[in-house]
Amino acid sequence: MGATTARGPEPTEGESVAVHQTLAARVLIGRGACGRVADEAARLGARRVLLVATPSAAAAADRVAEGLGERLASRFDRPVPHTPVAVTAKTVATAEAAAVDCVVAIGGGSAIGLGKAVSARIGAPQVAVPTTYAGSEVTPVLGETEDGRKTTRRDPALAPGTVVYDPDLTLAMPPGLTRTSAMNALAHAVEALWAPDATRYTDALATEAVGGILTALPEVLAAPRDPGARGRLQSAAWLAGVCLAQTRMGLHHQLAHVLGGTFDLPHAELHTMLLAHVMAVNLPAAPAAGERLSRVAGPDPVAVVRGLAQGYEGPTSLADLGVARGRLRDVAERVVAAPYPNPRALTVEEVTDLLNGAW
Ligand code: NAD
Repeated sequence: MGATTARGPEPTEGESVAVHQTLAARVLIGRGACGRVADEAARLGARRVLLVATPSAAAAADRVAEGLGERLASRFDRPVPHTPVAVTAKTVATAEAAAVDCVVAIGGGSAIGLGKAVSARIGAPQVAVPTTYAGSEVTPVLGETEDGRKTTRRDPALAPGTVVYDPDLTLAMPPGLTRTSAMNALAHAVEALWAPDATRYTDALATEAVGGILTALPEVLAAPRDPGARGRLQSAAWLAGVCLAQTRMGLHHQLAHVLGGTFDLPHAELHTMLLAHVMAVNLPAAPAAGERLSRVAGPDPVAVVRGLAQGYEGPTSLADLGVARGRLRDVAERVVAAPYPNPRALTVEEVTDLLNGAW
């Protein structure tokens, strides 16, 4: 889902040229879809499959392995967050030794990330089966770490050509991960609404995604094993993932990237605690985004998002995550120094204030 779009500073219809471009992807979505993974691999001509799976999806991976039968050439069950290149290199070596011609990845963003990294390196098609709401499965983006440094690259070869969403794989997701992962998805959609390269297409997706997440997340938290509610949340998160693929992210993702990279903080929790703060700072400068958010969230979208974040039973502040207050200005300086698109430019003082609020 590579996107190149361009639009003037104000989204005035008819006054600037928007370019909308997507990469082809085949998406299966619905209960039981995981049972079709082996057929999807066969559809890609696979004869020698590498199966990457997170331990939390071991049972589903076992069923996929059974379906693949003799076409299962290799299996790797220990993906690591933030895609360390050393882990990728080992998996690539194993895949090459096994003459792998297709990668199937099952799990959260960490498993999907490893699948993307390996698939791009060996030039094999991939089937992604996500079990969280992180959205990586529909993006041509990969963050990789080496010697403690995280770099992100964008390449159409990274985007899985087939994505299989099965809500049954999310039924046992703990409430904390459910909430934070859905907030991670929500952040993709919110930032797409104020992105400089937003189009009518991404506006529509983002509005539907925000409305879907805000409706389905409370339903899922009330009834975590309800496949209907899980399915609605998963499909809203899919749209949010497409928003991440199609638009350039702003202040929120920049903060998450710098904080996460500097202090090695948990990805989804960080998104959860930051989003309301960023919305409060950005929305006065993004009236069109605010109008769309109000349409689906009511008159005070910031309060709605803050309420969801505060309901989390894990760490809800940067202080809880162990970030020293004295480091916040340093983070703000780095955020301001690196260029990123945002509805308004912020000074180091303003970013420090925001971080103090999240602290
Ligand atoms: P994760 O994949 O690290 O999973 C977190 C934990 O939850 C793991 O222990 C995992 O086994 C477990 N888990 C996953 N699904 C589960 C389920 N259904 N039930 C129970 N447990 C489950 O976390 P994540 O938030 O999905 O992904 C974060 C990673 O993905 C980060 O490295 C982030 O940078 C990356 N990411 C990349 C993109 C992109 O476009 N490149 C987008 C979003 C996230």
